[in-house]
Amino acid sequence: MNDATWGKVRHELEGVVGKNHFQSWIEPLDFAGVKDGAAVFHVPTNFIGDWVSRHYKDLILSHLQSAGLPAARVQFTLPPQAQPRPAPLTKPAAKATTAATTSDDGDLPGAPLDPRFTFDRFVVGKPNELAHAAARRVAEGGEVTFNPLFLYGGVGLGKTHLMHAIAHELINREDGLKIVYLSAEQFMYRFVQALREKQMMDFKQLFRSVDVLMVDDVQFIAGKDSTQEEFFHTFNALVDQNKQIIISADRAPGEIKDMEDRITSRLQCGLVVDLHPTDYELRLGILQQKVEQQRMQYPGLVIADGVLEFLAMRISTNVRVLEGALMRLFAFATLVGKEITLDLTQDCLADILRASDRKITIEEIQRRVSEHYNIRLSDLIGPRRLRALARPRQVAMYLSKQLTSRSLPEIGRRFGGRDHTTIMHGVRKIEELMAQDSQLADDIELLRRALEA
Ligand code: ADP
Ligand code: MG
Repeated sequence: MNDATWGKVRHELEGVVGKNHFQSWIEPLDFAGVKDGAAVFHVPTNFIGDWVSRHYKDLILSHLQSAGLPAARVQFTLPPQAQPRPAPLTKPAAKATTAATTSDDGDLPGAPLDPRFTFDRFVVGKPNELAHAAARRVAEGGEVTFNPLFLYGGVGLGKTHLMHAIAHELINREDGLKIVYLSAEQFMYRFVQALREKQMMDFKQLFRSVDVLMVDDVQFIAGKDSTQEEFFHTFNALVDQNKQIIISADRAPGEIKDMEDRITSRLQCGLVVDLHPTDYELRLGILQQKVEQQRMQYPGLVIADGVLEFLAMRISTNVRVLEGALMRLFAFATLVGKEITLDLTQDCLADILRASDRKITIEEIQRRVSEHYNIRLSDLIGPRRLRALARPRQVAMYLSKQLTSRSLPEIGRRFGGRDHTTIMHGVRKIEELMAQDSQLADDIELLRRALEA
């Protein structure tokens, strides 16, 4: 096959894979001839070779064969003149490594790792177990099995925490490992600064000489063209040297608007895992852990039963808000020297509770509860005192108190004009019973989930 034939095949491939993928993956291939039944292509980097081999090998082969090439397989290699990769450069000047943090570079200026963001302090639950497992795997170091690790999820779900935890763990395991953690924003900032100060060589050298690169909130560079470009090259250079890359974003790679296709494809090449929104159990677990951790700082702190459960139910937006709420409660309770009760919680956190109100209505709760216990809605709300009606009614009162921001008098009005003390009594009764009766506790949990869903 001559170059013209390859030119024709290339053209066909462009039609199949699209312009962007073509430019990223097919265009860089240099046809070097057929050897031992293999169509050999020279690739500029191993990374590109691996990727093309994984995604386009069969496609390329079939087109080559249709064009009459006697090849049974395709092979991608670096051109023979390519030098073996240089060992990572020696440590660049400290001033250039603002965001780098390793055991012996601990005095570097810039964004240090948060010492609290360790695996020990990361509570694992269903919504984050996969991300946690992947992070653990990467933190073991050793051979790079997936590159990059791409973590994504909404605000405050633990992406940064996991990234720092990986860094802490790697530092503990291996002395002198050069780990750079920074936000995509900082990456851009340093890049622009390097451009301005004509220090691009230093910049490139710095980022290409790290052992582990972590870029947080990568969605930030979407649409920032020259920064994306540089990120892309940094990324390639590191993957080619088999250096681990860990990326986070607020959404999946394919959903980041204004991110170049070729970057998106690279981001998807490794392992992509998402952190799901927290569920009740995880939130409760996190709160319990935080309380334990704060014991030292706030000795004598007493938290009434049900307060943590209340917070876990009512603040479902994100963990950062949940933590903030708890800290505020601690500070307040310490200041006024009081036990943290449900009432104090509601007073102290009124604004947060309002903001994260999920707008579950009392009517919805009543409907669900009556369906669940198979009684009529009118009976649930009405005056009859039969036990078979009274208990579900109290459950509905309890859930109304827990899941809405309505006051007791307001709830009373919606339960057939009952007095607020009746509602309070009902709520207390259910709290008591739940502690003894696991069947009831399960029922309520089930209802709560259905309502929250
Ligand atoms: P993100 O980077 O996803 O926006 P962060 O990692 O900054 O979120 O987490 C926000 C806060 O919530 C941090 O203080 C973090 O320690 C805490 N957090 C999040 N998830 C967990 C978890 N599973 N266990 C303990 N703390 C958590
Ligand atoms: Mg973050």
